[in-house]
Amino acid sequence: MEGDEARRSLLSMTSQLPQAKEASPLQETLLVVEDEDAIRETVALALEEQGYRVLQAADGREALELVHTAERLDLMILDLMLPSLNGLDLCRLLRREGNALPILMLTAKSSETDRVVGLELGADDYLTKPFGMRELIARCRSVLRRRQQAYTSEATVLRYGDICLFTQECRVLVRGVEVSFSPKEFRLLELFMSHPRRVWTREQLLERVWGSDYMGDSKTVDVHIRWLREKLEVDPSNPEYLVTVRGFGYRFG
Ligand code: CA
Repeated sequence: MEGDEARRSLLSMTSQLPQAKEASPLQETLLVVEDEDAIRETVALALEEQGYRVLQAADGREALELVHTAERLDLMILDLMLPSLNGLDLCRLLRREGNALPILMLTAKSSETDRVVGLELGADDYLTKPFGMRELIARCRSVLRRRQQAYTSEATVLRYGDICLFTQECRVLVRGVEVSFSPKEFRLLELFMSHPRRVWTREQLLERVWGSDYMGDSKTVDVHIRWLREKLEVDPSNPEYLVTVRGFGYRFG
């Protein structure tokens, strides 16, 4: 009953929001993590009305799985009070595995400690409950904008283990030695290194690197992975960097 009321009052707020952006295939994708159904669904609806694509998770583990498997994710709206894996632990886990996904935390008014810890752990911003949809949307936009600016002005060197990739110069150092890569190999490696530990299916890799109109089959991906392994791995038949994830595809790191 209480949840229904909250939902109704939140929904009435969404009616006066600024005009939605037009949907496109390049839509930014947001993940809403909250165990209270009424809040999660209301937030998701409000964001969808703004033209975002929205994924939802009702607990921390589900969210972690989505982060690892989603084709695209631009921002996570993360409630800290969650079953199975709480928001702070999830945030810590992601940053520890090198994932830089922008995070907007939702915190209770009373929990200043959580807020401080969350920001220290690498959350980008926070919003105190209860909040209005207009404020939530404004915060989401500002986090996305800041990340976009940071990304374009960032030093364009990706490092992982012994591998160093210079995105602007299209050069790669493997254990300190410059190794040459074909354009497709380079783009594939750049994609992997931009998302350490993320699992990619062959279809996702094909679409990102070869483009959605590519007519070849997913064997092409396997062949390129083999070539990459020969250039990156100490022992290509026992890879440390480009790992096969049985039943899914591939992962870097
Ligand atoms: Ca909650």
